[in-house]
Amino acid sequence: MKINSGLMLLCTSLMVHSIVATAQNQTANNNTTQDKADAIINKVVAAYGGDKLLSLKGFKLIDKRKAFRHGQNHSPNETDIFHRHASVTVDLVKQRKDYRLIRGTQTSGQIFDGKHGYSIDPTAQTLSKSTKMTFATADNKRLLHLDTALVLMLKDAHKSAEYIGEQAIRGLVHDVLKFQPAQSPELTLFINQQTGQIAQMQRPYRKNTYYNTHFSEFTQNQGITYAASTYQTKGGKSLNITITRKLEISPDFTQAFKLPKGYSTPKQGIDFSTMKATKLTDNVYQAGRYGGFSVFYDAGEYFIAAGGYYELTKRFEKVKELSKLDKPLKYLVVSHHHDDHLSGMKEAADLGVNFITVKDNIDSIRESAKVALADDRFTLVDNQGEFANGEVKVLDFENEHAKHNLMTYFSSAKILFTADMYFSRDVLGVPRGEQTHKDLKQKLKQAGFDVAQFAAAHSSKLLTMDNLDESIANTVPVACPAHWEICVK
Ligand SMILES: [Zn+2]
Repeated sequence: MKINSGLMLLCTSLMVHSIVATAQNQTANNNTTQDKADAIINKVVAAYGGDKLLSLKGFKLIDKRKAFRHGQNHSPNETDIFHRHASVTVDLVKQRKDYRLIRGTQTSGQIFDGKHGYSIDPTAQTLSKSTKMTFATADNKRLLHLDTALVLMLKDAHKSAEYIGEQAIRGLVHDVLKFQPAQSPELTLFINQQTGQIAQMQRPYRKNTYYNTHFSEFTQNQGITYAASTYQTKGGKSLNITITRKLEISPDFTQAFKLPKGYSTPKQGIDFSTMKATKLTDNVYQAGRYGGFSVFYDAGEYFIAAGGYYELTKRFEKVKELSKLDKPLKYLVVSHHHDDHLSGMKEAADLGVNFITVKDNIDSIRESAKVALADDRFTLVDNQGEFANGEVKVLDFENEHAKHNLMTYFSSAKILFTADMYFSRDVLGVPRGEQTHKDLKQKLKQAGFDVAQFAAAHSSKLLTMDNLDESIANTVPVACPAHWEICVK
């Protein structure tokens, strides 16, 4: 015992010594790593303008991009591009930000005035105060794609910076730094060891996949460096690419941070957070929550459904529970090939459904279902099809949104189910009119569909034919304020 104690003492003393030694090594290592990170940060700051950058009072980014519509193309056989124009005016002294975006045909804006955040819709002419928006979040992550802004963020968050190591990009050695900016995802920068310029910024997307922004064609304005060319990828797939990019230094703030006059408060949205099933008529049920809704028809021996969002199984269970009917889901009408509307295909496959679709969309359905689907699992519609003795009619409507968009008409109930066509998520009022609504009205007339109510994939609110007429009468062009430089001419 005694001996053991002596031995223990000796061992303990050795252990303490070894812990101290390890801790000293660790501190030395930490110092080395921290010193390395600090040295790299200093080099990057110098490369982007040094004192000029550090004394910067404000800047404005005017960024015109083209983005790819992966998963949301008009046709399943072609990739489309759309405008993604943005401007961000930043007042670093008063902590104000003015962000403007054109995404396809939609315009929107966000202003942080130093204290409060606001969202703007120039077409609807609405303005809403946001309790969540801050100076950091007001640009919806747009400044993560400006290398100069990344340097300012890195400088601010330098204490969080961690040196990861070196990596070669196209044969050039790059230092890799990880850091955590305030109210932002963790960012990893790949910094050219020779120039100190940022070649790439990476942030997490899904497990083991990333968003990457690549920077090139470095230029200067008033001694401040920025990349004139960028492109962005998500999970390795191209997302968007810069067409033109301008960085103004100490810009004119006259037109910025001003709230538009005469704008009203946006309409109140419906709370869709609870999964709910409703009986619409004798044989027709509706179920869903958030952005995913389906309509189910009780065809006697089985159900037929329209609306293929994820949680199809939950919606079906809710309908069976409400109707106290336990029958299989035999058919599912797949509206169109867009990835969100195919997110329930795996569930549909597991439920054993037969997919009602068009020939062009079979591959997209198979890809989304991620299980082998034999040819006899598909029933093809060529323009128009009828099921359950004509109680369920399916009509293909090629429109602005998709090459094939199958509408499902429950004839006795006079209910039409559509996806991305005619719906409202507001408590009151009707949607703003679009060309598609005019075409829809025409299409229904041609088909002889006597529609009383419109059901939809993205809302449980039913709209009427009078609502559609009201929307059509209220068709207004998309607005882009005259003082926005990013408007599409
Ligand atoms: Zn769609």
